[in-house]
Amino acid sequence: MTVNRELWRRAISERTAPRWACPTCLSGHLRLNSDEDLRCSETAESAKLRLYEPWEPEWIKYVFVAMLRCDNSDCNESVCTSGVGRVEQFIDHENVQIEYVDQFYPKWVSPSPRLISIPEEAATLLGDSLGRCFSNAWGDFAGAGNHLRKAVEILIEHFESENNLDRGKKKLHDRIIALRPICGDVSDKLLAIKWIGNSGSHIDDLSQDDIFDALDILEWVLSELFDNTKRKIDLLTARINEKKGPLSKQGPPQDIPAD
Ligand SMILES: [Zn+2]
Repeated sequence: MTVNRELWRRAISERTAPRWACPTCLSGHLRLNSDEDLRCSETAESAKLRLYEPWEPEWIKYVFVAMLRCDNSDCNESVCTSGVGRVEQFIDHENVQIEYVDQFYPKWVSPSPRLISIPEEAATLLGDSLGRCFSNAWGDFAGAGNHLRKAVEILIEHFESENNLDRGKKKLHDRIIALRPICGDVSDKLLAIKWIGNSGSHIDDLSQDDIFDALDILEWVLSELFDNTKRKIDLLTARINEKKGPLSKQGPPQDIPAD
């Protein structure tokens, strides 16, 4: 899987939120439960534009805050978001008329839904950095880049410690390169994420697509390093093949002819 860019860019309307998974239980979805959960206000500049003659509803601009809640009754997590809004035109084909609808786009969400899949061991290791990266990935792209770089640093420290490597006074770049003989491909991918993170530190020209590109790569890295599904399946396969039958069957391997 990669970042579902279309899903995360969907707008919130006054009554409904997109089907975003809850960041806490991961199984529920975030909802607007009442009219009070979203508050918006027209910007001063937008209000002034109403004085000009060819004014159209689509010139309206808002700021908004909203409280979303998880629909899993065992969780009930609350998520706060804020951002900007505008009026968009929709064609009602059934009634052959034009409708104007307020649409709201988050610039910040906390706690944010996980924008990529994270194996649990990786979530324990990188939780804080990734959580901050996800919260910023909606609007503060330089901030998100900085937290991604921090996540790369934590991963590198983890592997240096596991492999008894001395980090010395090496720069992050050289420490990633030093891991190449151990991590292979993963080292190159961490380098790519670091380049994007560096841009967040030095210049303010990262886009949301840059952050999503880095998250796509990071998701692959975390799956490669921490997802032990393949290891579990390999072990299960070996045990079944050794037993030549289902594991629930008692006794030594049967001499069953191969079909
Ligand atoms: Zn939940």
